[in-house]
Amino acid sequence: MSSEQRPLAERLAAVRERIASACQRAGREPAAVTLIGVSKTWPLADLQNAVAAGVTDLGENYVQEAVDKIQQWQGPAPVWHFIGPLQSNKTRPVAEHFDWVHSIDRLKIAQRLADQRPAEKTPLNVCIQINISQDPAKAGLHPDEVLAFADQLSEIDRLRLAGLMAIPAADLNDTELRRQFDQLKSLSDTLIQHHPEATALSMGMSADFEIAIESGATHVRVGSAIFGQRHYAQTSAG
Ligand SMILES: *Cc1c(COP(=O)(O)O)cnc(C)c1O
Repeated sequence: MSSEQRPLAERLAAVRERIASACQRAGREPAAVTLIGVSKTWPLADLQNAVAAGVTDLGENYVQEAVDKIQQWQGPAPVWHFIGPLQSNKTRPVAEHFDWVHSIDRLKIAQRLADQRPAEKTPLNVCIQINISQDPAKAGLHPDEVLAFADQLSEIDRLRLAGLMAIPAADLNDTELRRQFDQLKSLSDTLIQHHPEATALSMGMSADFEIAIESGATHVRVGSAIFGQRHYAQTSAG
């Protein structure tokens, strides 16, 4: 059977085993790594199956698609992570429905999320996105900008500065990837000296989560290795 045809529970178990091995190589506890199932483009039934199989956290990229799923959710809810790019005219549903936002790189967006966070909810967890490959076409802050940005972010009520997030360039070899993940880890260590609560380090996807864990990732964002190959034509972005 190809991995595509295996049931979700089997793919999930294989991912968990790879996480455990990476943790063992790095001398880390598997409990120190949160697996976020990235469910963009997948129908609600697959998300429900993933949670039934033990996934505790789900990540989504597109606001409308995500909110539809969250509103139709049945049973105990997972922790919802918004991991996609966020425009200022779409902050309200994110502030209202999500627990985490990983893609913060502008104070204006952060302030809107704070203003729109419902009073009865806990503060929204936010990660600062780092443009670790320093690609001008990519989102995220330059590593040198992070501390000043974190100071400002931590002053905003209704947000909790949780840590850092990054998406390295897609074409790196393992050595270069590891170097960038290691750079992120040391940036995270520096951030923690100034903001001890900001311990999250969100890095690693299906192709590279083991290297990310060996470098110190606390949150890995794994989509296709759990849900299967995405077919973008079936959904609309936005
Ligand atoms: C889609 C996506 C992922 C998951 O990608 P896979 O390669 O399917 O694991 C992780 N992080 C972000 C920001 C994404 O957009």
